[in-house]
Amino acid sequence: MPRVHRLPLPTPFPVGPVNAYLLVGDPLTVVDPGPVYAPAREALVKGLGRLGFRPRDLERIFLTHPHVDHYGLAGELAAESGAEVAAAAVAAARLGAAGVRGLEGEREAIEELLARSGAPEGFSTALFESWSGADVFAVPVKADLCLAEGDVIEGGGVTWRVLHTPGHSPASLCFLDEAGGRLLSGDTLLPHISSNALVDFRRAEDGRPTLVRERSLEALIASLRRLADLELREVLPGHGEPFGGHRSVVDERLRHHERRKETVAEVLRGRGPCPAFQVALALFPEQGDPMGRFLALSEVLGHLDLLEADGVVRRHADGGVDLYSLA
Ligand SMILES: [Zn+2]
Repeated sequence: MPRVHRLPLPTPFPVGPVNAYLLVGDPLTVVDPGPVYAPAREALVKGLGRLGFRPRDLERIFLTHPHVDHYGLAGELAAESGAEVAAAAVAAARLGAAGVRGLEGEREAIEELLARSGAPEGFSTALFESWSGADVFAVPVKADLCLAEGDVIEGGGVTWRVLHTPGHSPASLCFLDEAGGRLLSGDTLLPHISSNALVDFRRAEDGRPTLVRERSLEALIASLRRLADLELREVLPGHGEPFGGHRSVVDERLRHHERRKETVAEVLRGRGPCPAFQVALALFPEQGDPMGRFLALSEVLGHLDLLEADGVVRRHADGGVDLYSLA
């Protein structure tokens, strides 16, 4: 019997089902137990039951990243079973807050970014309203084992090497079974979709109180390149079916970002100096709701970062708004 079992769990989110994995062996481990959402919990309990386990048997919980569809239920399960929760040390602030946004000062940082990006009046209020609705899908959880790049951790009788793979979130981890050639990839590498390099922030290194925007897409691309260098037999993703041939999937993702960079530059060619929000509306006119528009803005800002680093695009501040134009 394979020791890694995929348990697809329904979610109420546009992404569809999320994968939990049960690692059978010592210690009995669940990876990403899904959101606080009755149908997901039911599917998880059923899945455990089919393999002869109950939630209270769990000894360890691995979390790949602090997004509610993956970690929401972890706090409840840990309380019920006494399982140790293992997550990235840098995820602790978000996991403890059980909100979509966990860093102190993050709301202000996002408001400032939206203003700089030329978002219309009232957009940030609508965005925070839609986010606060997601808070019910998670309870706060404390990480007992704080993981960082290079750590090793036991789960299901296997030794997993921890890879810090920022990009989709700054706290994203992958867990590598070197002997078995298997990778728990979370949302860093998915079989069917390019994962969004979401806008995110970190504390300034000089201790200033303001938060600094991460260059999320640059980080994601570096993480993907790193994964391509691994010798893998199978990738166990956070959504969708497990897959092999990970190098061709990584290549496809990298080509996708190259193409999108061209498209973003194309939009600027037709327009002259333009704020990021306008570029996002031009590229993704179908995104009508605040979350969809924020994802579109994330996508565009990531590509504008790359184009700026390439010297293709120039950014200049016009009052409180950043305008982008072809260099
Ligand atoms: Zn996800």
